[in-house]
Parts: sequence; structure tokens; C-alpha cells
Amino acid sequence: MINLTAIEKSFGDLPVLKGVDLVVPRGGVTALIGPSGGGKSTLLRCINLLELPTSGTVEVGECRIEFRPGRKVNQKAVRELRRQTGMVFQNFQLFPHQTAVANVMEGLLTVLKWPKDRAHARAIELLDKVGLAHKADAWPSSLSGGQQQRVAIARALAPEPKVLLCDEPTSALDPELSGEVVAVLAQLAEEGTTMVMATHDLRLARQIAHDVVFLEAGKVVEAGQASQIFEKPSQARTVQFISTLT
Ligand code: ATP
Ligand code: MG
Repeated sequence: MINLTAIEKSFGDLPVLKGVDLVVPRGGVTALIGPSGGGKSTLLRCINLLELPTSGTVEVGECRIEFRPGRKVNQKAVRELRRQTGMVFQNFQLFPHQTAVANVMEGLLTVLKWPKDRAHARAIELLDKVGLAHKADAWPSSLSGGQQQRVAIARALAPEPKVLLCDEPTSALDPELSGEVVAVLAQLAEEGTTMVMATHDLRLARQIAHDVVFLEAGKVVEAGQASQIFEKPSQARTVQFISTLT
């Protein structure tokens, strides 16, 4: 479902991703872990092309784009690939002047041009899925962090993206509230949603991820099944990193 090949990304003279490969099958759930500044967020943003790789190939579903230095990027292809993805951010990023249901409807109305009734019905269905149908008319400021993040997840899922990308979805939440977000993501994983998440939250990674990629200084140090990475990592650096978090 996701296939990234030889992704390089520099910001000016600073190389941030140095040849990263990533494969996530349909229904796969991959956690990106690693020290701060290692490139997890940048890699996620290279999947939905919020950042354009300097070079390498990005494939999501049926969309495939090759990046080469100096080659012009086809903006229409970028928009189409981006539509295959939904993204959830650490700080929720809900529209503060819209109710929960309006937040979830937004992309359906503005991007997909759905009629209001249909968008509303879909939004309520998704709020129900994340356990928040009763908060449809609430303003974001009146919701807890965990509730805001669940609305953000509903919003990301509304246009039926092929993959859900989560950048530190629980990092802004205390353990109790992060639990309710983990539960929603676990349910989505169980239903076969293809997901990639960058996280420092090993509870989240252990509970949900099928595969784990340990990224440091823009390179994959180790990648494999979650059970293997957590129980029997092969690289000394991975052992050391995981021991600092547990
Ligand atoms: P964290 O665990 O703290 O979230 P991360 O693994 O997500 O870290 P990134 O945010 O991807 O790391 O950052 C990787 C490197 O790229 C860092 O050195 C960062 O300063 C740099 N970087 C990220 N975005 C930009 C940008 N827009 N312009 C310049 N440098 C950037
Ligand atoms: Mg990050």
C-alpha cells in the first residue's frame, strides 16, 4: 500500500533523510521510533508529500511519483497522492471556530464537494465510531485533549483515505487521555486500516504496531516485526534506545 524507495530529503544543506526505504502492506501498521531529530516526522510528511523528497520514489495505493533533484514536480499528481492519505497531528489542529461535526465535515464539503446532508451523515457516523456522537455540536475548546484527538482522527478518516498517518498522536496527552486515543487507533488497526505512526509512546507502538522502524540521524538502523524489535533487537543501538524508554 505504501512503498518508499531511497528517500532523501535535505533542508538547504542539512540532509535529514539519507536513503530511507519503507514498505507498508495493505492493513499494515508501522511505528516509526527513534531519537528526537532522527527524521520521523519528516519521513511521515514525505509519505503524504507535505514535504517533497529531494530524491526517491513515493508510492501510495495506485499513485507513484519519482523525485529527482532538478526535476519539476507534477502538482496534480502530488494532490492526488495526498488525497490517498489522512493525517493526525500531535496538537490535534482542529478548527477552533467550528464544532466537532463541522470539523469532520470540512474536507468533505470543501475538497470533495459533497452535499451538506451527506457530509453531515458521514461525519456523525465517524464521530460515533470514535465514541463522540454525543459531542457533535461541541466546540473544540470544550473538549478534553483525548476527545479533540478523537475528533481529529474522525476528520482524517472522513474522505476514506487509503492510509492514516499519525505524528505523535498521544504525546500531548496525559496517560489516561492517551489511553482512549490508543483504544481508537487499536480498533482501527483491527479493522484493517493501513497506518504509519511516529511515536515516542512505546505503549502505543507495542499495542498496535505490526512492524517497527527505528530511525536515527536520517537512516533506518533496524526494521522488522514489532515483537522482534521489542523482544530481540539485533542492533546494540536499538537495545540501548528501547531501554531508555522502558
Ligand atoms: P521528534 O522526535 O523530536 O519529533 P523527528 O524524528 O520527528 O523528531 P524531524 O522533525 O523529522 O525529527 O526532524 C529531523 C531534522 O530535520 C531535525 O534536525 C530538524 O531540525 C530538521 N527539520 C525538520 N523540518 C525542517 C524544516 N522545515 N526546515 C529545516 N529543518 C527541518
Ligand atoms: Mg517528530
